[in-house]
Amino acid sequence: AMEAWRALRDEPALTLDGQRVGLHMNAGLLTDLPSLEGSGAEGVGLYRTELQFLIRARVPLRSEQAALYDRVLSNARGKRVVFRTLDIGSDKVLPYMKRLEEPNPALGWRAIRISLDRPNILKMQLQSLLRGAAGRSFAVMFPMVAQASEFSQARAMTLEQLERHIRNGWPAPSRLEIGAMLETPSLAFAPDHFFREADFISIGGNDLKQFFFAADRENERVRRRYDAFNASYLSFIRMIVDRCEAHGTPLSYCGEDVGRPLEAMALTAMGVRTLSMRPASIGPVKRLLRSVDLREVRGVIDAGIGRGDVNLRGALAGWARDAGV
Ligand code: PEP
Ligand code: MG
Repeated sequence: AMEAWRALRDEPALTLDGQRVGLHMNAGLLTDLPSLEGSGAEGVGLYRTELQFLIRARVPLRSEQAALYDRVLSNARGKRVVFRTLDIGSDKVLPYMKRLEEPNPALGWRAIRISLDRPNILKMQLQSLLRGAAGRSFAVMFPMVAQASEFSQARAMTLEQLERHIRNGWPAPSRLEIGAMLETPSLAFAPDHFFREADFISIGGNDLKQFFFAADRENERVRRRYDAFNASYLSFIRMIVDRCEAHGTPLSYCGEDVGRPLEAMALTAMGVRTLSMRPASIGPVKRLLRSVDLREVRGVIDAGIGRGDVNLRGALAGWARDAGV
């Protein structure tokens, strides 16, 4: 399937109105990495580190974690890689971790909440990342941050581990970016200092939609009822874009939505300029972005919102059909 997009692989995702969109890929296993070449991805926008933890019978040793991160960075050959720290709980359960009986696991003890309550696992992972990177640049981001203080704590832990790493005489990464995933609506309303403190923010649309609409992403009955074309959601994304722009915080979007070209187009029209998706989506998304004027797309969305449309899918699909894109 990649063959068809070969011709586009080395072309930039440049829209007709001259907007440059960064297209990165999501990954989580070493077998994903050859796609970094084949797809034309500019980097790995989301590396799901929990997959190494999920496929084993025990917590991977520090040396095993470091070896994986080393290979990921070697494969990336200088392209940017964003490692997401362990995102477990809810839909991602470690077979060897005692399962908590929780009434609402999606709203429960998960992701950064576990990392802050059990800091040794996160410390070990941060040490492994620093060792595996061996002086190369990388980015780390924390999942499910709901309030600024959680990010500050995790960031402080990262800087502590960096200091310790340097004190031990090991090479410091040439650049270390520390960012947060925006997956809970509350974080969009965090105080200004959060937006200044974060080196970047990445919207995890799969979870953000789940919490924005209060609709379980795992529940077939409700999960398709609301989508990224929803006018309220697009307005919310615009608000996040505005807050990030006001503070100069780089923003990306790494949920599955942006793997579908029309959704990627709508979110890009709201101002998101970096997208991360599964590798096979990069060609189709790039093809569409290269054929549209985002000002026109934005006009269609604004007109729909002005009319009181609940969902913009119909209006955008109709516009795309008429425009022949
Ligand atoms: C998301 O929530 O959008 C995301 C990218 O993370 P995951 O799907 O792994 O929860
Ligand atoms: Mg998520």
